[in-house]
Amino acid sequence: MKKRCPCCSREYYGREIYCTRCGVPLERKKVYIAGRITGDPDYRQKFEAAANRLTDTGHIPLNPANLPEGLSRADYMRICTAMLETADEVLFLPDWQDSRGASLEMQWCLYIGKPFHCGEW
Ligand SMILES: [Zn+2]
Repeated sequence: MKKRCPCCSREYYGREIYCTRCGVPLERKKVYIAGRITGDPDYRQKFEAAANRLTDTGHIPLNPANLPEGLSRADYMRICTAMLETADEVLFLPDWQDSRGASLEMQWCLYIGKPFHCGEW
């Protein structure tokens, strides 16, 4: 299905991220990153790599690994639920099934019908 660039009105197909004529982002999405944090000592690098891939393709990553340490599980889930709800889509990192929080987020996505990807973006 064809759409039009909001900037220069060039026609494009939905898979394109940037307009090839004027360079504006066409399909920019807010993407929440879900995955294992607790018990993974390298979680910040893992989430950062995923966030960079999203940024590189014109999207806006919502990265829960940037939250400060020391909050309670309930606090994290309150904040993460707000980020999850703000997102257009969710990216589940390959280890999401090892995380109780990410498993809850998966259940949430399935229950309300929020679009998600598993593995790589
Ligand atoms: Zn354009």
